[in-house]
Amino acid sequence: MGEVSRGQLARELGVSPASVTTQTSELIEQGYLTEVPLVPGAEPLRGRPPVALRVAAGAHAVAGVKFSMRKHVAVALDFAGNQIAEACEPARDRAPPGDQIEVLARLIGSVCAEAGIGPGDLAQVGIGVPGFVDHASGRVHWSPVFGARDVDLAQAASARLGLPVIVDNDANLAALAELWFGSGRTLSDFAVVTLEHGLGMGLVLNHRVFRGALGLGVELGHTKVELDGALCRCGQRGCLEAYVADYALAREAHVALDLAGGSVGGADLVERLYAEAKAGNAVAQSIFRRAGRYLALGLANVINVFDPELLILSGERMRYDYLHAQETIAEVGGSVLPARATPPRIEVHAWGDLLGAHGAGALALGAVTDRRIGGPFEGAAA
Ligand SMILES: [Zn+2]
Repeated sequence: MGEVSRGQLARELGVSPASVTTQTSELIEQGYLTEVPLVPGAEPLRGRPPVALRVAAGAHAVAGVKFSMRKHVAVALDFAGNQIAEACEPARDRAPPGDQIEVLARLIGSVCAEAGIGPGDLAQVGIGVPGFVDHASGRVHWSPVFGARDVDLAQAASARLGLPVIVDNDANLAALAELWFGSGRTLSDFAVVTLEHGLGMGLVLNHRVFRGALGLGVELGHTKVELDGALCRCGQRGCLEAYVADYALAREAHVALDLAGGSVGGADLVERLYAEAKAGNAVAQSIFRRAGRYLALGLANVINVFDPELLILSGERMRYDYLHAQETIAEVGGSVLPARATPPRIEVHAWGDLLGAHGAGALALGAVTDRRIGGPFEGAAA
């Protein structure tokens, strides 16, 4: 985050310069903003030197944690959003919620030690998990990282850490990270499609993350692409995720790799399938290409429904380049409205797990800002 003059702030917010002066002097007094010279080293000929405002990085520190099926990643951010520490731990499949809370406590301990602060110095913790998450209440209806349903994650984590905790779906946090730190900073409407163990999506409309009435919005992975199609983890049939996620690829990989039984786990199997495809195995290549075509169908649907300026493909599995090969992306163009001259820009971002952790950190910063200064700011709890 950079610097901004009072005049620019007034223009961008559409308020009077006098009101900006009143508001910002309060924030300077409270230690949230500092004044810096607008042109470093420049001496004014007369009068007060021109100054810009900058967020006081030391005002607060927060932590952001992303849980996933492969590894759990945590970052500590200062109040200006700069990363001051990072830690990670390998994931254990479907661990009970109590075990995952202990993982969380260890990760928080690690980032605080690296940042040279105590856990009690954190103003807020943000957590991102895959699955169905009620952001407003902090409850996780279902997530592949927990061996239980309906987990009151925010409450349990807050009780263990003694800190305020805020929770969101990991794809929403990928979108929030792009909004705060990435390509989304200058855009009002964009979508982030994440492909990891499952297929997720975060949607920013008018500079804010859209979550829907129940916080269950934009579950792109569970939009239907086939009637009576493949069985999805959600229990329904024909979901897009059931054609592009790890477990969908693993289902067919046994044939391509000429394996007899289910001796190899899903993620390992998909890694082997990808290695085979790269080595020229035509059946393995066809499995990825088919998944890529389904993904293209999903992306075209997103474009036709929301008309975003930019579509970002993100997440660990996007390194399977067959999924976003040129011919696959070209298929998106064939399924969007003919009235469009061209499809929107599509970018592949390989931030990986760190992106989600930064998004969780941004969520935490938003909550602190909302609570201490008054909001609502993006990311703050409803
Ligand atoms: Zn589904």
